[in-house]
Amino acid sequence: MRRHLPAFPVLGALLLLSGCQHIATVPVGKTPGSTGSAAITTPAADDNLHAVTWMQTSAEYRANSIQTYRAALAQLDSALADPQWDALVPEDRVVPAIGLEPAVVVDIDETVLDNSPYQVRLIRSGLAYDDATWAQWVAEQSARPVPGSVEFAQAADARGITVIYLSNRTLDQRAASLANLRALGFPVADESVYLGKGMPVEGCQQASGSEKHCRRQWVSRKYRVLMQFGDQLGDFVQPRPNTAENRAALMKRHGSWFGERWWMLANPSYGDWQPALFDNDWSLPPAVQRAAKQRALDASD
Ligand SMILES: [Mg+2]
Repeated sequence: MRRHLPAFPVLGALLLLSGCQHIATVPVGKTPGSTGSAAITTPAADDNLHAVTWMQTSAEYRANSIQTYRAALAQLDSALADPQWDALVPEDRVVPAIGLEPAVVVDIDETVLDNSPYQVRLIRSGLAYDDATWAQWVAEQSARPVPGSVEFAQAADARGITVIYLSNRTLDQRAASLANLRALGFPVADESVYLGKGMPVEGCQQASGSEKHCRRQWVSRKYRVLMQFGDQLGDFVQPRPNTAENRAALMKRHGSWFGERWWMLANPSYGDWQPALFDNDWSLPPAVQRAAKQRALDASD
């Protein structure tokens, strides 16, 4: 889940608790036979509406997720059988993979857990993400499974492959997150399989707590990683800094791993692809962010 400065953290929590609707009243004038002016209420424009509607309602989103996990499962046995097969980049592999126990590494949010109801709350309230309302959502343990993810995780577990949950949920959200996962049928070997944001990794330094490469190094000391799953490029390899150019360069370098060792879930709702277009400056007004996205569009032949 993205983490940038909240717009109205306390007010946001109150509105979410009250189920407030963010709407605009639009007068439409007199209707035939009426004695007064009528009005309809129209939801305010929200840049996230289209993406979240697609994720919640479309057969296309479900099909996309299911086919990703199904294709990964079709290749899992060959990855398991190849002792040299590893899905960590060399910078993240600090101990040779050969002979280590097999694992798959999955991000949580929008990779195995669908948090779209939280996004709906934001759309309806007209508020931005903030840590307080997000923490409340996590504590509710109400996230749904991303289509196909439970089946894949159970199949991996049945093969003796440990499922590692490498997430930017925080360490204090471990119990609620694992309870949510367990309730949906995900295998949770023990609490050590939750690698949350802020987890210290001896001998590894990183620029921000949300970067994952130190936690991938932790995994590399114990496991041969057969596959990784995520909805952000940073779930696999870290763009530094997070610019469109660096992201394109990483895709050029590692893109061939997707569909074999790495598996990307679709998330048009949020992600680091977005702030990469406006210098990662979440303090910019929404209109300025929107203009940057407009400028990034390409209509050339
Ligand atoms: Mg995610």
